[in-house]
Amino acid sequence: MTGKDKRFPLSLASLGTRSPRAIDDRNAVRRSVATPQTATRNAASHGEREIPVTARERAPAQTISNDRERDAPMISPAVRRAMVERVARQGVQDQKVLAALDAVPRHLFMEPGLASQAYIDASLPIGYHQTISQPYIVARMIEVMRANRHGGVMKRVLEIGTGCGYQAAVLAQVSGDVYSIERIKPLHELARANLRPMRVANIRLHYGDGMLGLPQAAPFDGIILAAAGMEVPPALLEQLTIGGRLVAPVGGRHQMLQLIERVGSTEWMTTTLEDCHFVPLRAGTI
Ligand code: SAH
Repeated sequence: MTGKDKRFPLSLASLGTRSPRAIDDRNAVRRSVATPQTATRNAASHGEREIPVTARERAPAQTISNDRERDAPMISPAVRRAMVERVARQGVQDQKVLAALDAVPRHLFMEPGLASQAYIDASLPIGYHQTISQPYIVARMIEVMRANRHGGVMKRVLEIGTGCGYQAAVLAQVSGDVYSIERIKPLHELARANLRPMRVANIRLHYGDGMLGLPQAAPFDGIILAAAGMEVPPALLEQLTIGGRLVAPVGGRHQMLQLIERVGSTEWMTTTLEDCHFVPLRAGTI
């Protein structure tokens, strides 16, 4: 994989997995029993489960690693590489995005019981009726956002719907500063706890209603919504730079991925891309 210009400061092994050579990749893949499901179905079926956020928050980084080492299945970088190759076969071509996907240990964003399924192409529950997005759609949205008139350079991006922090971590590999907003307090805290041991310097997490955007940090070269509304909130359109690109799922039961490019101070251009399925965008905070 080429084009990898950023790496997490901590190696995968130091974050709580065994050394690559000790790992049986084939077993890890065979244990991947879940089939691709929609985000909503996954979230609903695990809706009652609560992640012990406060315990994880309080635990020092070393404890997180130790817990994960004990509970998480053995996962090698090769398993993640296989996921990246699958995403490439599904049509994602941007090498920088594929390299970013390869660099982020997705299994460390989910609870240890689900970590063996981290590299299948499915959204998976993270608690509070929400899900970690499917790797393909994470990569696809970032690829679309990066296809700008500046050759993919994005100084500042905004994500609506931090969830567990996975997409923010991938975004941080390909952009300058990443701002991410989450409306559910325990998930905002979960993302903080997940990202802290990885020491990613260019992510700023905010607790709030992402439909309002983040006027104090605007304008953004790119905005990604990880939750679907019936329309894109107007405040977000206003917070794009001219030439900036927003990628969002739009719809209810049937959703389409949309790209909205700001082409002038009062002009936006919308392109409808493909079917998708996300949890709903909701106003307010909880
Ligand atoms: N980015 C995540 C996906 C999380 S799922 C990942 O990496 O996998 C979508 C998230 O959007 C949920 O956590 C949900 O609580 C959040 N969300 C929904 N409406 C929101 C809003 N108005 N503001 C901020 N977050 C919102």
